[in-house]
Amino acid sequence: MSLQQITILGATGSIGSSTLDIIRINPEQYQVFAIAAQQSVEKMRSLCEEFNPVYAVMVNENAAKALRTSLANDCSTQVLCGQDALVSICQDERVDIVMAAIVGAAGLLPTIAAVKANKRVLLANKEALVMSGELFINELRNSSALLMPVDSEHNAIFQSLPSAAQQQIGHCPLEELGVSKLLLTGSGGPFLTRELATLPDVTPAQACAHPNWTMGRKISVDSATMMNKGLEYIEARWLFDTQPNQIEVVIHPQSVIHSMVQYIDGSVIAQLGQPDMRTPIAYAMAYPQRLTSGVAPLDFSQLKDFSFKAPDYQRFPCLKLAIDACYYGQGATTSLNAANEICVEAFLQGEIGFTDIAAINQQVLDQSDLSIASCLESILATDQQARTIAQTIISKGA
Ligand code: NAD
Ligand code: MG
Repeated sequence: MSLQQITILGATGSIGSSTLDIIRINPEQYQVFAIAAQQSVEKMRSLCEEFNPVYAVMVNENAAKALRTSLANDCSTQVLCGQDALVSICQDERVDIVMAAIVGAAGLLPTIAAVKANKRVLLANKEALVMSGELFINELRNSSALLMPVDSEHNAIFQSLPSAAQQQIGHCPLEELGVSKLLLTGSGGPFLTRELATLPDVTPAQACAHPNWTMGRKISVDSATMMNKGLEYIEARWLFDTQPNQIEVVIHPQSVIHSMVQYIDGSVIAQLGQPDMRTPIAYAMAYPQRLTSGVAPLDFSQLKDFSFKAPDYQRFPCLKLAIDACYYGQGATTSLNAANEICVEAFLQGEIGFTDIAAINQQVLDQSDLSIASCLESILATDQQARTIAQTIISKGA
């Protein structure tokens, strides 16, 4: 394989760091072309000095200035700033691979740009697909981009599907291929067994302490409410073009099975591994080849107590909201995603309680105009409308 040039959006985050770890151990195959982050200057400085990318993009202008001044004299990285720069490091013709690992709706435009520019797009940023759905998949169909799911569940499903489905992401003929169901597993997060009556008292630190995975704060809170599984449900619907009876959420607290595919003959094919994102990232980078990822092998003599159960919507109302939104349509999924981003941030800032997240998400859906057109302007307007409504509800309650 020739040396592949990679752009990493969200390079300072949890997924960005795991991606850089894999590049560190496979330097003969991958080279960092560009990195982007919001504002963490110190981390970006050290990444520039280590990987010497052509470009480093800071979304925040002051952060870009600070990075420029702090870079060592012998570092030739050019520091850019703003949304246009994010898009240009995805479209640059020297780039082979784009890791889309910005958190939230902010990742939409550069990720779509990478698809339009026919890159291998490693999709971690599930919110981008949830908020744009059909538009994203249409862009994919009109391009020769290769979209590789990084989310561990979708990556597991991809690995467990027949190659004919792998070649048709966004329009998999599941029924024709003998697939009866995608089994989307989820750990249930830190509050799977916590006394229901005490959920309003949950603190941000408790919500971010996931039992199995180490992740960014937004996705950690989403895992605690199981909104993450709801967003993943919508993500799976688009990636694998499912009908309502073709996806089922299964709680599997050990997070060793990362998801499964059930076939009409009764077979179930699963992907197993450590709860370590370097496995799906390495797979997405090298597919159809395999790459050393630094992840320890599973030791089956140490694995015990595999358990499974159905999700409880009373405990996890956000999961139900997301599944309902998935079938209501794009206006609902875009609004829910946007409202949830505002609520999670407000929860992390101590402005609302843990159980308010689901309650406010529901109110935003009730108060929003959910009609939407499948174009970027309409999607961004719907996203903005939901953010404004959520903020109004939060500030009234405060
Ligand atoms: P994180 O919070 O650790 O990192 C987020 C990154 O995005 C940072 O580099 C930050 O600088 C950048 N960023 C934030 N806001 C931005 C903005 N407005 N513009 C540009 N850059 C911005 O998050 P993470 O855990 O790495 O998650 C990243 C994405 O991957 C999320 O969409 C998440 O749902 C998804 N994901 C993460 C995991 C995981 O294990 N961490 C697993 C599956 C999917
Ligand atoms: Mg996941």
